[in-house]
Amino acid sequence: MQLLFATGNQNKVNEVRAKLGADYQINDLSSLAFKGDLPETHETLWENAKEKAMFVYENFGRNCFAEDSGLMIDVLNGAPGVYSARYAGSDKNDQKNIEKVLQEMKGKSNRQAKFMTVIALVIDYTTYLFEGEIKGEILTSPVGENGFGYDPIFKPEGFNCSFAELTMEEKIQLSHRSIATSKMIEFLNELNQFKPDHD
Ligand code: IMP
Repeated sequence: MQLLFATGNQNKVNEVRAKLGADYQINDLSSLAFKGDLPETHETLWENAKEKAMFVYENFGRNCFAEDSGLMIDVLNGAPGVYSARYAGSDKNDQKNIEKVLQEMKGKSNRQAKFMTVIALVIDYTTYLFEGEIKGEILTSPVGENGFGYDPIFKPEGFNCSFAELTMEEKIQLSHRSIATSKMIEFLNELNQFKPDHD
């Protein structure tokens, strides 16, 4: 099955490709020769995911899916949340974002947090939404070299290491993005079963 993932974020693409395996061909925005950022003008993951997918549908006439994701930290009232990518500035610098979070978490004993992903799938102008989340804790300093974003400071529940210490294969067994992706695939498989046969 071929799917268009409306994103230019190669980390997200790699994780979704690894999750779905060889049965799915995932194309990203480079296949449309689209450069630049998709619009993300809202204050929730749900609205931003929908906006990104609908932008691609309306401008390129292609069914597709987009996702918006973020890290929500309890004692920071859910920040960085929907602003995760640009938390420390518009240059979307992972290192600076991590430093800002660690600074704000200094001395805080409640380290509870979660990662959340919302996928918006647009088929013929209709949007379907799928969510995934994973709970964990914010570490006091970064550990590990793998992954991206806040992975070095996020310790998933039940593990003794950060997301950045897991291999891609390990991370995709449990990540917020993988959970949402699995729900979308389940939906698409059901939809295909009911598709009229045009042969
Ligand atoms: P957006 O969905 O493109 O608006 O950006 C999501 C931002 O959330 C990323 O740039 C990361 O900073 C963060 N993020 C989302 N998912 C992950 C993840 O799996 N690991 C680490 N950081 C993530």
